[in-house]
Amino acid sequence: MKNKIYLNPSSFVSTSGKPETLIASVNRCTRCNACVQSCPSYLIKPEETASPRGRVQLIRLILEGKVKPQHHLPLIKHSLQDCLLCGRCTLACAGNIAVAQQVSCLSKAVNLPLMPASLKFFLHLKVLSPRFFDILIRFIQFLRYWKLFIVTGIGKKSSLYWIKYLHQTMPAPKQSLQTQLRKNKINISPQKPDFIYLPSLQACYAEPDIGQKTLQLLAPKKTHILFHTSTGFFEYLHGEHTRCLSQAKHLLTQWEKLSSCKAPLVTDSWETFAFLKNYPILFASLSGWQKRAEVFASHVRFVADFIKPQKSALNFKTALDFSGLLFLPLENISFSRRILKTQAGKNLLECDYSRFPIPLGSVLFARPAQAEQVLLENVKDVARQQIKQVYCLSGWAALILAHALKRHYPAAQAQHIVYLQDQHDRI
Ligand code: SF4
Ligand code: SF4
Repeated sequence: MKNKIYLNPSSFVSTSGKPETLIASVNRCTRCNACVQSCPSYLIKPEETASPRGRVQLIRLILEGKVKPQHHLPLIKHSLQDCLLCGRCTLACAGNIAVAQQVSCLSKAVNLPLMPASLKFFLHLKVLSPRFFDILIRFIQFLRYWKLFIVTGIGKKSSLYWIKYLHQTMPAPKQSLQTQLRKNKINISPQKPDFIYLPSLQACYAEPDIGQKTLQLLAPKKTHILFHTSTGFFEYLHGEHTRCLSQAKHLLTQWEKLSSCKAPLVTDSWETFAFLKNYPILFASLSGWQKRAEVFASHVRFVADFIKPQKSALNFKTALDFSGLLFLPLENISFSRRILKTQAGKNLLECDYSRFPIPLGSVLFARPAQAEQVLLENVKDVARQQIKQVYCLSGWAALILAHALKRHYPAAQAQHIVYLQDQHDRI
């Protein structure tokens, strides 16, 4: 007898910072079709089951008991496996229905991995032993630097494809941000800091320039840097709510201890920013913690908030990409959009849900074939519009798009939004 699969109707999903149960979210779908054309997976595979509306309806049928997941696993996997969790459908939907999060709930229930087990373990290692994680990254960087990486044969196995992809996408190895700051004798833990900086993995290892630019934007204030601090994001993505909550509690307590005057917590990662803003939802069933999380969330800032816009700084066609893994809190992108509008004026091409649906990091590693096709569409869009520069809110999105542009349309570039600072430097 097949084991029964249970999809919890009370699982949490949230869009634009509002908590909602899975069943309530699904029931709000009017089947209007507005999301379908925005979905990159539907454009590649034009089937109702591979569309956002089809996915929502499948989840509804499961919740109503009309489809028994244990008897229809091939159909469910067929429907879910191409979803890139990009959230474009949510942007197109008048009701802001969180399809990507619904897909993530069902994927967990049917044990369909959202990312390869090896990548998941790698990310857990950061929490289990930050020191060992750091040594491992340095070792990988060493192999890359001496061009020994390929001879290891890593990446030939499909489950390790993500390592090969990272190797191809990442810029040339550099000293980590922590090493650079240590060498320059920069105090990373001053007393009573004015800011607390939570650098992304990318800023720590792949592109320490992002970390340096963030610190420049915060200068000359005293900044405490939280290296190797986990937010619980990856645990959240994988439905490990107990671990996710314990890490969220740890970060929250750390911030409270460090910041007697409630210093803003700044991050350069769009995904982290969106997730931290959602902390109050995470603690919805723990009222004491929720109040603390509300104070905490009100002090969370995205690095772009510190860029001072200059008029007419960008005299070429520019676009803003706001791809982000799972969360797209629309109200939060308005500031970044305003900066770019001031700097680029008429040269800014407003991004809507049909443009740049960039399949992000872990998703790309898990579903490389579909994601590559979507990326090609992004490149074609940049070329068609003769855009020279795309600023991305997500560092991962910037790296992935930059890599694709380099291969197929080198006339354009993609960068993390923090590089807008360069425009100031040139003025
Ligand atoms: S746009 Fe929203 S309401 Fe319409 S079919 Fe898609 S998910 Fe449902
Ligand atoms: S998250 Fe992206 S790929 Fe998945 S259904 Fe929505 S638009 Fe399609």
